[in-house]
Amino acid sequence: QREIKLASRPQGMPSQDNFLFETVEIPALQADEVLVKSLYISVDPYMRGRMNEGKSYVPPYALGEVITGGVVGQVVESKNDRFQTGDFVLGELGWREFNVSKGRLTKLNPQLAPLSAFLGVLGMPGLTAYFGLLDIGQPKEGETVVVSGAAGAVGMIVGQIAKLKGCRVVGIAGSDEKNQYLVSELGFDATINYKTSPSIRKELAELCPQGVDIYFDNVGGDITDAVFLQLNDFARVALCGQIALYNTEKVEVGPRILPILLVRRALLKGFIVSDYQPQYSVAMQELGKWLQAGQLKYRETIVEGFENIPEAFLGLFRGENVGKQLVKVADP
Ligand code: NDP
Repeated sequence: QREIKLASRPQGMPSQDNFLFETVEIPALQADEVLVKSLYISVDPYMRGRMNEGKSYVPPYALGEVITGGVVGQVVESKNDRFQTGDFVLGELGWREFNVSKGRLTKLNPQLAPLSAFLGVLGMPGLTAYFGLLDIGQPKEGETVVVSGAAGAVGMIVGQIAKLKGCRVVGIAGSDEKNQYLVSELGFDATINYKTSPSIRKELAELCPQGVDIYFDNVGGDITDAVFLQLNDFARVALCGQIALYNTEKVEVGPRILPILLVRRALLKGFIVSDYQPQYSVAMQELGKWLQAGQLKYRETIVEGFENIPEAFLGLFRGENVGKQLVKVADP
């Protein structure tokens, strides 16, 4: 079977050279172990951080070790009473065609949603949108919500939940095609294409005549600087991601925003979705209910073939995905 290791640590933008493919034997199962065939492998922006050395909220990938992340798979052999051959599972597993697991896996109900959804709308990105917006944002009817990275896995769910809560929603994304989808299919009120906008700040001021009450930040950088200028008194900023800065080699110096936060009495709160683990099941139920009622839609960009995992990951930084980016590795 094939597996993918971290070959070297990137300087700036990562490339194919940072990854190494190897072909290895599948080890024989020991007591309590389960053999899982990978079906969908998730590539996520946070993995860029794990390619660096140094302390963060998850340990860095070690050089020469297999990359790990969210994987949906099927049990093909089991020496663990909790799992039967044929079970569908979600786990933190390696970029491998087959993983041996000690059983730290979540069983999935394929009747509930397509399997891929457990890595997107009903998985980590959906939960991130849910908790960041509802817990930190505290949206109220009639408020204005701005979300950056709006057409991505997290962003498109944030905007739709904000609409469900009766807010005006302005999304910021990197192409007209993405933005059109957000407005015509997902009900966003307005969008900005940050790549072609002559002035994000001016466009925002026009599109948010009542100011911005909640900013869900997926990207950071210039986009975020522009949004801060429009914050209302008592605005809330859910600091979710900073993808615009993940590949910068030097610390960037931007406008000093703290005086704005001070005079606006704004709340800026960073969060990591796993902080909310005890509340995951409640959130999943509510997300599932909205999905079933057709109140929440989602899109995925699915690339086929194990060999395309690094390229799919790199594509996140070029905005090639609409919604959740996944790699389909095998059929059940
Ligand atoms: P996305 O599906 O949003 O994919 C990344 C998107 O980011 C791309 O499609 C691209 O869209 C946009 N992007 C890439 N580079 C830039 C740039 N330089 N400036 C602006 N936009 C850029 O990924 P996710 O939804 O999975 O993640 C979104 C953010 O949320 C990330 O920052 C991620 O790290 C963070 N996150 C945080 C979590 C937490 O617990 N705090 C959990 C999960 C995600 P475009 O075409 O619009 O440029």
